[in-house]
Amino acid sequence: MSIKIALVGNPNSGKTTLFNALTGSNQYVGNWPGVTVEKKEGRIKWNKEVILTDLPGIYSLSPYTPEEIVARNYLVEEHPSAIINIVDGTNLERNLYLTTQLFDFGIPMVIAINFMDIVEKRGIKLDLSKLSKSLGCPVIEISALKSKGIKEVALEAISVSSLRDERKKRIFSSAVEGALEKIGEVVASSYIEENELRWLSVKLFERDDEIMAHINLSDDKKAKIEEIISSLEKSYDDDSVEIITSERYDYVTKIVDKRTRGKEKMSVSDKIDKIVTNRFLAIPLFALIMFAVYYIAIGSLGAFLTDFMNDTLFGEWIIPSVTALLEKLEVAPWLVGLIADGAIGGVGAVLGFVPQMLILFLLLSILEDCGYMSRIAFIMDRVFRRFGLSGKSFIPMLIASGCGVPGIMASRTIEQQNDRKITIMTTGFIPCSAKMPIVSFVAGYILGGGWRGALVSTGAYFIGIAAVVCSGIILKKFKAFAGHPSPFVMELPEYHLPAAKNVFKSTFDRGWGFIKRAGTVILIASVLIWIGQNVSLESTSEAELSVNEDGSFVTDGEGNYVSGVHAHLIYGEDGSVVGYEKTEHKGLHFIENGCTSKSVLQVVGECVALAFKPLGFGDSWEASVATILGLVAKEEVVGAIGTMSDGGLETSSEEFFDGSFLKGISFMIFNLLCAPCFAAIGAIKNEMNNRKWTWATLGYMTGLAYAASLVTYQIGILFRWGSFSFWTVVAFVVLAVFLYLLFKPAKFSIIDTCKRIFRKKEKANK
Ligand code: GDP
Ligand code: MG
Repeated sequence: MSIKIALVGNPNSGKTTLFNALTGSNQYVGNWPGVTVEKKEGRIKWNKEVILTDLPGIYSLSPYTPEEIVARNYLVEEHPSAIINIVDGTNLERNLYLTTQLFDFGIPMVIAINFMDIVEKRGIKLDLSKLSKSLGCPVIEISALKSKGIKEVALEAISVSSLRDERKKRIFSSAVEGALEKIGEVVASSYIEENELRWLSVKLFERDDEIMAHINLSDDKKAKIEEIISSLEKSYDDDSVEIITSERYDYVTKIVDKRTRGKEKMSVSDKIDKIVTNRFLAIPLFALIMFAVYYIAIGSLGAFLTDFMNDTLFGEWIIPSVTALLEKLEVAPWLVGLIADGAIGGVGAVLGFVPQMLILFLLLSILEDCGYMSRIAFIMDRVFRRFGLSGKSFIPMLIASGCGVPGIMASRTIEQQNDRKITIMTTGFIPCSAKMPIVSFVAGYILGGGWRGALVSTGAYFIGIAAVVCSGIILKKFKAFAGHPSPFVMELPEYHLPAAKNVFKSTFDRGWGFIKRAGTVILIASVLIWIGQNVSLESTSEAELSVNEDGSFVTDGEGNYVSGVHAHLIYGEDGSVVGYEKTEHKGLHFIENGCTSKSVLQVVGECVALAFKPLGFGDSWEASVATILGLVAKEEVVGAIGTMSDGGLETSSEEFFDGSFLKGISFMIFNLLCAPCFAAIGAIKNEMNNRKWTWATLGYMTGLAYAASLVTYQIGILFRWGSFSFWTVVAFVVLAVFLYLLFKPAKFSIIDTCKRIFRKKEKANK
C-alpha cells in the first residue's frame, strides 16, 4: 500500500522547493481535470511507497478560487493519509490561519515551519515544544532551500499517517464550539463520515449554501440549524462567517503572541470599534460622517470660499482687469475674448473649486489617516459580501475618490477574476476629484448651497456606492460574473491622531494633480471651446440691418447708418441710403457682434443635445456639449460651462438649466455615472486587457447613467409638474426592468464541485 501525503501551504511558502528536494526527479506534472492549475505528484527519493502531492498555494480553504477548490476537493475526495502543512516562519500569523482550517478535516498533520534560515538570521527563536503542544501536532523547523530538516518532516509525516487523527482540535470559544456540536448532531447521519462532520458543521455554520443544498436536509433540520446560528449571531452581534474568521485569528494570534509578543489588552481602539463597526450603527454613522464632511467642504465653508473665487476673484477682479489691460494694449478684440472669456473663464471655473476640493480632501485624509476608512472597508465587506462582492472591491473605490485611474489599477489585488471585472466596471461610478466641481456646481449654483447642497453632494457619493452595489447584485446574476467573493483579510490599525505630514501630503497630492490638469488639459480644451463657440461655418443671414417701425433704418448715436455683418448699405446717387444687400459668409469665420449665426459648437451641440432631450438637460445644447467634453476630463464639464456662459457660473443655472433643479440633478447624475475620462478609459483597457470588455464597461456605465437620469428626471417632472409623455412610460419601463434584475433570484449555483463530492458519497452508501 502506498502512502499519500499532501503538501499544503500559502503561495510562496516553499512547497515546490520542498517537493523537489524530497522527490528529486521522480515527479509527474500535469493539470487537474477541468482547471488550469498545475498538478505535481512524485515519490520520495528514498521511499518509493510514499506519493507526495504538491497542492496549489492557498490562503484559505473556502472555495473562492480554482486553487482553493482543487485543494479542498483533494482533501475531501482523495483522503490523503497525512498532510504536511508548510508554514512560512517569517509570517506565522497569516500562514497559521490556513492551518486552523486544515484542522477541520481531521487528517493527521505535520507542521513544517519553513524559512528557518531567515527566521534565525532575524534573531527570532521559536519554542517548538510549546508550539507543538498548543497546535496539537508535530512541529518541525526546516529550510527547504538549504534542505535542512526535510527528511525529518517526511519521516514524521509517514509515522503519523498510520495513526487515525484522534485529536479533536477545539480552537473556537466554547459558545461557538457548542453551536458546532449542536449542528453536528442535527446533520449526523449514515453517509457522513465522522471525521468529516466537523468540517461540515463549520461550513453549515458559515451558511455555505451549496453545501446546505447538497446534503439534502429536511426543512425541519434546516430551521433548527438556522436557529442555532442566529441565536449565536445575536449574542455576538456579528454574522457567522465573521465570528468564525475572527475566532480563527484570535486563536492564531494567541499562539503567536505567547512566543513573540507581549500580552493583549482591550485597547481604546477596540472600544471605539464596538460602536463604529456595530452591525446596525456602522452604516448610519458612516452616512452621518460623510454628510458632515460634505457639509463643511461643499455646503458651508467651502461654498463661501468657492463663491469668492468664482464670483469675486475671477468674475469681478481678474477677468475685467485682464480685459481692460488687453484693450488698453489694443489687442484684437477676438484675442481679448479668447484670453479673457475662453482661457481664463474656463480655467477659472475649474480653479474656483480648489478651496472646496482642498477642504474635502483634507477631511477625507484625516478620516483615512486616523484609521476610520479601514473600518469602512471592513463594514463594506459585510455589505458587499451579501451581494457576492468582497470588501476588497471597496479599496479601489476608496482610492477612486481621489482619481479613478489608480483606483482601477488597485483592482489587481482581487484574486477572483469575475470580481475583478465587476470592480473595474464599477469603480468609475465613485465621484473622483474631477467630478467634484460638477457636484459642487449643481449643489451650489443650481440648488443654492447650504444644507440642500450638502445633502445632494453626500447623495452624489452614495449614488456612486449605490451604483456599485446594484451593479454588483445585477451582474452577479449573469453567468459571466458568477462566483464567490474573494476572502477579505485586513488588519485594522489602531486608531491614532492623524499625522499632519501624511494628511497634508495626501491633500496636496490630490489637489496638485487637479491644479495641474486645470493648467494643461482644461486650458487647451477651454480655448478650443471658445473658438468653437465663436467660429461659424455659414452665416444664417437672419441678422439684417435693423429697421425702425416707420420703415427707416436704425442709426447710431451720431445719425450714421450702421452696416451689419450680414448686410451692407446701398447708397443712392445723392448719398442717401436706399436699401441694403444681404451678404453671406461661407467657410470658417469669426462671429462678430450683433450676428445670430450658429457657431460650429452650437451646430454640433444641437445634434448631441437630441440624445439628451429625454434627460431634461438636453434642452440646452451647451449642457450637452459640456457633458461630451467630460470625456476629455471631468473638470471640463464645469470648465466648458464657465467658458460658454455669458456671466460665468453664476448666471449659468438660468442660462442652461432654466433654473430647474431637476435638470440640474439629472445632469449631475448622468455626468457622475457615465463613461469616465480618457485617462480612466485607458486604465480600464489596460486592466481588462480585452477590447470587448472595455467596450462593455463603457457601454454599461453610460447605459446605467442614462437610465438613472431618465428615471430621475421623468418621474421627477411627473410628480413636480404632472407632465406626462412617451418618455414617462419609457422611464417606468426602465425602472421596472431595473427592479426586476435587482430582485430576481440568482440562477447560477456557484460551485458544482461540492455537489460532486456529496453525490458520490450518497451513491457509495446505497
Ligand atoms: P511555493 O509557492 O509554496 O511552491 O513556493 P516555492 O517553493 O516556489 O518557493 C518560493 C520562494 O521561496 C523560492 O524563491 C524559494 O527559493 C524560496 N524558498 C523556499 N524555501 C526557502 C527557505 O527555506 N529559505 C529561503 N531563504 N528561501 C526559500
Ligand atoms: Mg509552487
